[in-house]
Amino acid sequence: MTFPPDTHLHTPLCNHAVGEPIEYARCARSKGLTEMCFTDHVPAPDGYDAESRMRLEQFPEYRDMVEEASREKGIFAGFGIEADYYPGCQSFLDPWLDRQGFDVVLGSVHVIGDWGFDNPIYMKRWRESDLVAVWSRYFQLLADLADTRLYDVVGHLDLPKKFGYRIPDPVLKELAQPALDKIADANMAIELNTAGLRKPSREIYPSRLLLELAHDRDIPVAFGSDAHTPDEVGADFDQAVALARAVGYTRAARYRQRHRTLLPL
Ligand SMILES: [Zn+2]
Ligand SMILES: [Zn+2]
Repeated sequence: MTFPPDTHLHTPLCNHAVGEPIEYARCARSKGLTEMCFTDHVPAPDGYDAESRMRLEQFPEYRDMVEEASREKGIFAGFGIEADYYPGCQSFLDPWLDRQGFDVVLGSVHVIGDWGFDNPIYMKRWRESDLVAVWSRYFQLLADLADTRLYDVVGHLDLPKKFGYRIPDPVLKELAQPALDKIADANMAIELNTAGLRKPSREIYPSRLLLELAHDRDIPVAFGSDAHTPDEVGADFDQAVALARAVGYTRAARYRQRHRTLLPL
């Protein structure tokens, strides 16, 4: 089986991943992947979530690491970024993203207000929260993300399920649909991210229900492992491909120079 490109990979510059990019490239090749794209956490000069990302001064180092990995034979290694959306992020991202020559820009929401809701350090807050209100704010942020037109792919569409704090499917559907409509309007793809299988949620992001809603809207899918160690590259892609096919997808998105093509699955 040929695997789709892995378009979500981190590097040690984010302070919570290990392994040099060239090791990720070698692991990818050994697993039979032919294409991958690094998408480490974007720098944020305004101080947003500083502990989880490279500083702007480290960005040239990131470029060099990816460049080195891209010289590895037998695998295409692209240069991308995972850029957070939060209110006010555009003042830096809007002029900056376009100038870097990225292959892909993932758009992700990891913070609601002042709460890094997917960070285990702040997990206690989940137990004190109104779950429907949290999920509702999250999907509103995703809709706002799509409206910026800054990003190519939505990362881990239902990330709030990471620690198992779920809401009933009918409510989820009602909250997610307006965001999915905006994602479709913005001609973005969504990510099928296998990291959810390695978290307490024990499920790919997004759930089958949300993937079906995306498919109904002809929103393409890109595949990502969200690897933070070399051996996680391409992790569980067999399950992700099976899920995509089960929902009716026959093609996977690939990005180069922020241009999308669709490869047969
Ligand atoms: Zn990370
Ligand atoms: Zn992320």
